[in-house]
Order: sequence, then C-alpha cells, then structure tokens
Amino acid sequence: MAEITFDSRYDAVEFLNPMKGFAPERQRLEMRWDPLLRHCSLYNPALEKGLKTFIGDADRPLLERIAAETAGNCIFCPERIESTARFPETFIAEGRLKAGEATLFPNILGLAPYHAVIAVSHAHWLPPDGFSPRLLRDAFKTAREYIAAVFDADAEATHASVNANYLFPAGASLFHPHFQVLVSNAPYTHQQALLEACNSYLDEHGSGYFEDLLVTERRLGERHIGQTGPWNWLASYSPLAANEIMGIHAGSGDFTDMAEDDLEGLAEGLAGVLRCYAHLNYFAFNFSLYARRRPDTHDGFTCLIRLMTRQNPYANYRADDFFLQKALESELILTRPERLAEEARAFVGKG
Ligand SMILES: [Zn+2]
Repeated sequence: MAEITFDSRYDAVEFLNPMKGFAPERQRLEMRWDPLLRHCSLYNPALEKGLKTFIGDADRPLLERIAAETAGNCIFCPERIESTARFPETFIAEGRLKAGEATLFPNILGLAPYHAVIAVSHAHWLPPDGFSPRLLRDAFKTAREYIAAVFDADAEATHASVNANYLFPAGASLFHPHFQVLVSNAPYTHQQALLEACNSYLDEHGSGYFEDLLVTERRLGERHIGQTGPWNWLASYSPLAANEIMGIHAGSGDFTDMAEDDLEGLAEGLAGVLRCYAHLNYFAFNFSLYARRRPDTHDGFTCLIRLMTRQNPYANYRADDFFLQKALESELILTRPERLAEEARAFVGKG
C-alpha cells in the first residue's frame, strides 16, 4: 500500500473593492489537483460565501408547473411505457427489462452500440430526496441485467456506464426520472483516463489506487463520509464537477459481478447523497457509474460512481459550465470538500 498525497497551492487575489470605498482587498485562492488524474479545481472562500449570487434556489412552483404540463403525454409514465422502443426478442425475450417500478428499454438516439434508458419510477416527478433506496436498487438491477445480456451477446462489448441527467439544467430532455446505460466496444475519454491511471498505479505501487485512497482518506477523516455495504463514499479532494461525491466499490470493476448486497449498498448510499443534495438545496444532478468487462489479468480498477450537482432550475438561470470547465478543463469548488463530507455524514451510511 502507498500513501496518497494531496497537492495544492495557495495564491492571493488582490484588487480595490468598490463596495468598500476602494479599500484594498485580498482573497486567498486555493488550487487543488486530483491525486490520480491531475485535474485542477479552484476554491475561493469569498465565492462560497457569495454563492447565492451564482446559484439561486430551485423554483419549486416552476418545477411543479412543468411536471403538470408534461405528465399528460410522457411516454415514461406507466400508462404509456408500452409505446417506448423494444429490443428484438432474440436479445431480450420480453422486449424490455423490468424490476419493481423500473423499466429498461432502448434509447432511440443511441450514443453507444448498446444504449438503454431506464424509467426509474412510476411517479412522473420526484424531488432528489424522493429517490428511495428501493427505486434505485430496482433501476440498478435492470442495468446489471442489461449489461450482462450485452456482454453475453457480444464479446467485443467491453465498457459500461450507468448515467443520469436529472432535470433540464443537467441536460435531461424528458422530465420523468430516468437513467441511461451505455455499453461500448471502446472506452469514452474519462473511462480511458481512469483505466489507464489505475493500471499505471498498480504497476508502480503493486496495490489498487482506490484501495490506497480509502485507507488514506479514512485515516485523515476529513473527506470520508461513510460506508454502505461494500461501497465507501468520499467527497472528492479535487472535484471534477460541483459538490462531487464518489462511491467506490471494494473489489470489482465489472458491474455484472454485483450481487444483491452490492446493489442494496449502492442504492442506499446514492439515496443518502441525493438527500444530502436536497438538504443543501441543490435540485439538479448528474452521475456516472463506470464499469468494464472483467479482464484476464487484474488491472487495478474497481467500479466507481461520481455524483455532482448542477445549476438549480429557475427562470433565466445561467449555465454552470463556462470557459473554466469547457475550455480550461478545471472546476470551481462551490462547497469545500471537507465541509461537504461533514454535511453528508448525516445522510450516508456508517463511518
Ligand atoms: Zn412521466
């Protein structure tokens, strides 16, 4: 096992503040780098204090109005779910996969050779704290079954992800709660970076990066949030996106290996993170869970889910991705990860 080191640097931002009679003002800027992938993030405490000027509260009456306007012709609602696309019988005998309230069916605009949508709930509208562990577990069950069916049918299919865009600021085109499963023959950019970095780390240190990260984070006690079954939850030291929380599986990088306990732990942790986001007044979110077909030799990769908040939905909201994220590939820390972990401990698992 190797000790993980967390790199940062501090710089000053200086200007004459017009709101204080042009008195000199000095702010302290922290830059952080992810220990594995080296992506950079920035934290300015003055910005965290003034956050409400960037991110307003979610407009609940607006969401309720959109829910009411879109419910009548939503094809993800149970009355119309039979009008969604079907898989050929030779691939999935029943045409769609079902577990509890979840239904998985093909996406009609594929971004991967195998691209499915999961309608998560019968309810057309759920606030983030309405995603119960039961709903999430059943949705992940259909994802596991789908990925297993693809892996069985196509030996070339190697990389999988389970993803969510929740509400329009997070990129959702339909209002009804849904996830998306992608299975491809080659990794997408971030999957490739993760796999290569985990592999190099294993070659160099003889241990898995995420195992070592968990040992270090547990000892430091600043960003470790809790454990649900075989999943450990952490606030990312240098987040890839706002308020990023990671769930790390102890052991497998192949989602088709997940037994009932693994899915229960994932669902329980994810529901807790979403309750924490609701508590912090964030409504829109994305997540991606990364997985790959088990290789012949150990590659140091384990399943990992990254959850992140997005701009709250309200009239005339501004996009939260600007040049910093899109062109400089760096992220703004909205809530200091150590404080985010403190907030999340009340909602996610045991320490
Ligand atoms: Zn619906």
